[in-house]
Amino acid sequence: MEYISTRDNSVRVKAATAIAQGISAEGGLFVPVELPKYTLEDLVNMKDLSYANRAVKVLSGFLDDFTQQELESCVNAAYNKKAFAPDEVTPINKIDETAYSLELWHGPTCAFKDMALQLLPHLLTTSMKKVLDGKEVVILVATSGDTGKAALEGFKDVDGTRIIVFYPDGGVSPVQFKQMATQEGRNVAVFGVEGNFDDTQTGVKKIFTNAEIIEELAEKNLVFSSANSINWGRLVPQIVYYVSSYCDMMKNGEIEQGEKINVCVPTGNFGNILAAYYAKQMGVPIDKLICASNINNVLTDFINTGEYDRRRDFKLTSSPSMDILISSNLERLLFELYGDDSVVSELMAQLVNDGVYKVSDEVLNKLQSNFYGGYLDEDETAEVIRDTFKNNDYLCDTHTAVAVGVYRKYLKETNDKTKTIIASTANPYKFAGSMLEALEPGVKQADAFAEVNRLHEITGLEIPEQIAELDKKEERFKEVCKIDEMKQVVQRQLGIV
Ligand SMILES: *Cc1c(COP(=O)(O)O)cnc(C)c1O
Repeated sequence: MEYISTRDNSVRVKAATAIAQGISAEGGLFVPVELPKYTLEDLVNMKDLSYANRAVKVLSGFLDDFTQQELESCVNAAYNKKAFAPDEVTPINKIDETAYSLELWHGPTCAFKDMALQLLPHLLTTSMKKVLDGKEVVILVATSGDTGKAALEGFKDVDGTRIIVFYPDGGVSPVQFKQMATQEGRNVAVFGVEGNFDDTQTGVKKIFTNAEIIEELAEKNLVFSSANSINWGRLVPQIVYYVSSYCDMMKNGEIEQGEKINVCVPTGNFGNILAAYYAKQMGVPIDKLICASNINNVLTDFINTGEYDRRRDFKLTSSPSMDILISSNLERLLFELYGDDSVVSELMAQLVNDGVYKVSDEVLNKLQSNFYGGYLDEDETAEVIRDTFKNNDYLCDTHTAVAVGVYRKYLKETNDKTKTIIASTANPYKFAGSMLEALEPGVKQADAFAEVNRLHEITGLEIPEQIAELDKKEERFKEVCKIDEMKQVVQRQLGIV
């Protein structure tokens, strides 16, 4: 299996290089030249495997430069009982006649990012041994809240790695801030940035490609890599749970063998839903991919019109992990739909220079035959949280609520009764304040911990240990920097100034 860059298809690498490097030198993203394919029989045969064994099977199709033993050891380190609380790694909860919640947040940081970021450090260190002969990697992360903590937790004290996380100051929830500020480990650092997520992500990308820093790193035998979802090593673990959930739906008798399902995903950087698209291309019987956004609804407009226009105000919402106007992974979908690196390069240049691009009618047709796009405003999101708790006895966090609400709009509009898996992306306690605003509007609690406790009183949902313990932990990282100081911060942190 080889990988090519979305912006230059003459760049051809194996998986280990794609993962160790994170991004291609000219700025493109690595994509597999072809996808492994599954027949229905393959899926039926996977039905009785554990999550870890399904993961090994899926990964082996993509990472054929890894030995079976390497894959098994990576996967077992990631999805063991200690890291993932329940017996099942990704339990499915039936919400109503047609909607199922695929809970992806039972890992150590209570967000779906753990699904990939518990595995990525192992894939990365294995890749480094193959292709980086002895260099250490520096992981730079831009986070809207969940990625940062999940990456810190995945990489903490992993030999041969250092990690520096930037988050938008004031743009993450109090629990998310506390999770990152109290991070343990000897190779970690966390900084706030005076700006929004897009500023933070752009800042990190600039450092990544800064020739001066890259040279300074090289002198110290260091090299940058990425834990953001631009890294292929983040995406492939996400394909696993779509394959796995289809197996579970068959196994639990919720669907017939081969019956089509829809998948609905609360979307930000387009990584999670892209993984579902790949699963569909690989032969998992998925029909519609429902792309759910909050009022930062650039993707809804894109799917409906073919025009991607980021020239709009960035809005802070109760679903901060979806407050994104530049969805990096859309680039991979454009490449799949166009099959042409020069068109993708051109569109990405237009996005940088003009803030807008438009796809051809042919590509728009392909896009719309696979995807439905919708969004929810803040009031609608709160209403879904209340309504789903009251009528379906199911508590969904703010992000998942956006997906549930968009799914209901889709159902109303199309009357498509196909069973639908809704990706549930965070434990509600991560966003306790916003949950309470939905459930008890106007009632204020003293602080984040009072909010967590109150949410427990109202709902009875068990408070995860990792969150219950937070207020006892020391805050190690509270420094905030300006956008144009990010580079110096990195240099200082790595001791290269
Ligand atoms: C990251 C995140 C999302 C968005 O996922 P993408 O892969 O970036 O589209 C949605 N919900 C939560 C809770 C997240 O942490």
